[in-house]
Amino acid sequence: MADIREGAPEPLGVTATGLTGAAVVLLRGCWHNKMSWPVRSHGYSYQVCTGCGIKRLFNEKAFCAYGPYRYDLNGLIAWDRAHQREIYPQEERPAS
Ligand SMILES: [Zn+2]
Repeated sequence: MADIREGAPEPLGVTATGLTGAAVVLLRGCWHNKMSWPVRSHGYSYQVCTGCGIKRLFNEKAFCAYGPYRYDLNGLIAWDRAHQREIYPQEERPAS
C-alpha cells in the first residue's frame, strides 16, 4: 500500500488545475479575474494576476492561458515540461 505522489510539490498532493486554483482563492481571496498581458521569459509566455501576482502559462498560438496557477515561474516551467507532450503533440521544443 505505497502512497505514490510523484514528488508533487503541493502539500496535499493536489495536481488538478481547478483544485489548485480553488485552494489559492481560499488562501488569497483572489479570483485572478484581471490577468496581465502575456510576458515572455525563459522562452515561455505567462500572465500575471494583477490582484495577487500569481502566474499562469500562456499559449501565444492559441491565445489562451493554460495549466495551473503558480507563484513560482520555475514551477510552471517544470509543469509545462511534464505535460508539453499532451499540449504540443507535434511541436518541437528546445530540449534543454
Ligand atoms: Zn489573483
